[in-house]
Amino acid sequence: MKLINIIIFLFIPIYLFSQNTNWKSYSGDKRIEQKVDSVLSLMTLKEKIGQMSQFSANWSVTGPVMPDDFLPYLKEGLVGSVFNAVTVSGIKKFQKTAVEETRLGIPILFGYDVIHGYKTIFPIPLGEACSWDLNLMKQTARIAAEEASADGLSWTFAPMVDIARDPRWGRVMEGSGEDPFLGSEIAKARVEGFQGGKDWNSLKNINTILSCVKHFAAYGAAESGRDYNVAELSENTMRNIYFPPYKAAIDAGAATLMAAFNEVNGVPSTANHWLLTHILRQEWDFKGFIVTDYTGINELVAHGVAKDDKQAAMLALKAGVDMDMTGATYIKYLETLSKENKISEEQINMAVRRILEMKFLLGLFDNPYKYLNENRSKKTIQKPEFLETARKAVSRSLVLLKNNNRLLPIDKNSYTKVALLGPMMNDSVNLNGEWQGRGNRNESISIYKGLKEVYKNSKVSFNYSKGCEVNSFTSKSINEAVELAKKSDILLVAVGENFNWSGEAACRTNIKLPKAQQELLKELKKTGKPIAILILSGRPLDISWETENVDAILQVWFPGSMGGYGVADVISGKYNPAGKLVMSFPRNIGQIPVYYNQKSTGRPVDLKNPNIDYKSSYLDSPITPLFPFGYGLSYTTFSIENLRLNTHVLSSDSKIIATADVVNTGKREGEIIVQMYCRDLVGSVTRPVKELKGFKKIQLKPNEKKQVKFVITPEMLSFYGINNKKIIESGEYKLWISQSSVDETNTSVFSYEE
Ligand code: BGC
Repeated sequence: MKLINIIIFLFIPIYLFSQNTNWKSYSGDKRIEQKVDSVLSLMTLKEKIGQMSQFSANWSVTGPVMPDDFLPYLKEGLVGSVFNAVTVSGIKKFQKTAVEETRLGIPILFGYDVIHGYKTIFPIPLGEACSWDLNLMKQTARIAAEEASADGLSWTFAPMVDIARDPRWGRVMEGSGEDPFLGSEIAKARVEGFQGGKDWNSLKNINTILSCVKHFAAYGAAESGRDYNVAELSENTMRNIYFPPYKAAIDAGAATLMAAFNEVNGVPSTANHWLLTHILRQEWDFKGFIVTDYTGINELVAHGVAKDDKQAAMLALKAGVDMDMTGATYIKYLETLSKENKISEEQINMAVRRILEMKFLLGLFDNPYKYLNENRSKKTIQKPEFLETARKAVSRSLVLLKNNNRLLPIDKNSYTKVALLGPMMNDSVNLNGEWQGRGNRNESISIYKGLKEVYKNSKVSFNYSKGCEVNSFTSKSINEAVELAKKSDILLVAVGENFNWSGEAACRTNIKLPKAQQELLKELKKTGKPIAILILSGRPLDISWETENVDAILQVWFPGSMGGYGVADVISGKYNPAGKLVMSFPRNIGQIPVYYNQKSTGRPVDLKNPNIDYKSSYLDSPITPLFPFGYGLSYTTFSIENLRLNTHVLSSDSKIIATADVVNTGKREGEIIVQMYCRDLVGSVTRPVKELKGFKKIQLKPNEKKQVKFVITPEMLSFYGINNKKIIESGEYKLWISQSSVDETNTSVFSYEE
């Protein structure tokens, strides 16, 4: 038996060195701290640095393999984590080497990007966020963790919580949109889903994995919507807008955090002591470990803050980075840097403690093979109930943007001839979007297949013609579609972007539909038939032309494995859509960034009278977005009435209850996401014109009325003021209980008096 096992099993703390007293462990559990320190005390400096190194596996026909340059490290016990190794048998090979063939036998953490599902692929996160359904998002993260853990993984690089206001940036598809409050709630739900709850004890379970909140910080503020680009923004905006979701994820127990690629105000995040130590460790008390993004340390050279990888490694360690993702800078240079006294061994010890603690909490020291059971993997992956949840997630994530003359839903009992058209209609490949985990692009249910299945035995008849490719067309292909259209009653056209036009390093300066699809829609329009379009995209597109020219628009995003079924559930009316946008749709690219929680400016536009000169406006476009945050239609209609407050004065130890009546005024049962917004009317710094402070999703039958109640507490009014300290200011606040960020029907005013 190795000494390490004796320590762990018999629980003998051995302290060869005096113990560190500054370490605040994640668990706060003394026994675990002692175990960690005992293992640490057995390690050579080199072995410690090995724990701080993550290497990426390659893939060969026989499964994952370690590239030749990393293999020696694995054999010497100098690998803390492996990234991109998948399958039980593949991972077992590495774990066996680490545990059985190295001096100390420390188990490896296996990480992977499980972003919106592992094998069962859910809608892209931006789409799923439009459901505003926190339980659902927690559940899909839970399922993703179930599948990933059953396939050998112990760590996901998710959730991505970067606030994003620029749809040119391809990575908007991975996040939750533009709002810090909603983004924070979703961040919490996803962390709890992956990790199985807030309590670290749940990490011991076989079906939980570590989450990694990313990318810290303000990665979504990339200038010009260009990936990896500079983020230049005030500390105040950072604290009020960009930081909250990271903080919420940490408060929800996120075990790890990823430093972003970008620089913020001149300092790359990977070398940013203010971000990684001052904010994260000192202010927020983050006790998990920090990993870089892929080769983030090496990139400090290209950023121009380090002359070589060695200096880069030093800067990263000093800033607070615990683990080097795939860059091999720590393994190559930290030992020398330590011998040269450029870094302290205590800094290394601290990083290693944090990493070892996670391995203990996961139970890997007790059973390094806990995730490695082929049978469990087979039984778990794509269980029918997982697929059912995926289907539900699709229908909940769709947003109905327009529906003139109630074109949708298409009644199953009507003798309607529907033309199924467009390049996305009979397509499986694009449905999973980017970051599809181990999903299979060819297996996802196309919209065509979903519709055929859901309308089986109905009176509706479908005929299909593609019309054009995503990016090209012939006059023959368009003519065929037009001929079919002429013989049909309704045209259902699935359009959009290829899946790899969004995601990492997939930014665009033109976010309209490609020419070929515009051409198809223009020709179809000439037939005079009613047109409903389904848009598949990883970002809000500029759909100004389509909004004027088609009758109905359903924003589908990239819906994942069960896409076609979920879409058909909405088209058929089996599920009445309730999704609301979490990111504003611009009218044109020149408006970007356009978002609801903007500042007033000194010359705000009066929207009722927008053409007055010398206001903060455009000569050639309205300033409002095409579709705002919080917007989305239903097949029924709702009204919110009778907003009342139990008191109009809030004090530091009280709360206000805001109540309103919500009525389903249409003819179908449906869900509505009721939103509460506030505005701080006079602040010591300028405040957003509106901020989401709460929301509730409620279900109503036709004519049914329900009361909805929101609690307003002083804490909800807090923000970072002129000195970047959190404050709550006395004064007047405006309140909205509404159906979207532009709904002005129910407002009130209250004041806060300290
Ligand atoms: C991305 C991260 C991701 C990592 C590992 C990077 O390029 O920015 O979000 O987790 O790769 O795949």
